[in-house]
Amino acid sequence: MKNDQSIEDYLEAIHILAVDGSDVHRAEVARRLGVSQPAVTKAVKRMCELGYVRVEGMHICLTESGAERAAGVYEKHRDIREFLLRLGVSASVAETDACRIEHVVCEETYDAIKKFIGK
Ligand SMILES: [Zn+2]
Repeated sequence: MKNDQSIEDYLEAIHILAVDGSDVHRAEVARRLGVSQPAVTKAVKRMCELGYVRVEGMHICLTESGAERAAGVYEKHRDIREFLLRLGVSASVAETDACRIEHVVCEETYDAIKKFIGK
């Protein structure tokens, strides 16, 4: 767990996996992010300390503040992906790049992107 970027990746993954309101299994998170289960365990410990998740057995659930942060990251992700698609970037690259840009984009740039896509 080096930085906040990975925390946001984890929160986003849990948010996406829990979209039907179900609890998320550690193994699903590991698969989605392409990381090892020990890496997930470490990240979950950190997210618990930050108050973003609760752990019930092998399942992870977002707390209210975790859900809020995750939804924010994911909204940014979708807006940036939409922006890249409109530029003519291919769907798979837009998806991958959106997931990187979402963590580092400045508020000013993000506002301009939202304006560009008509939000
Ligand atoms: Zn993303």
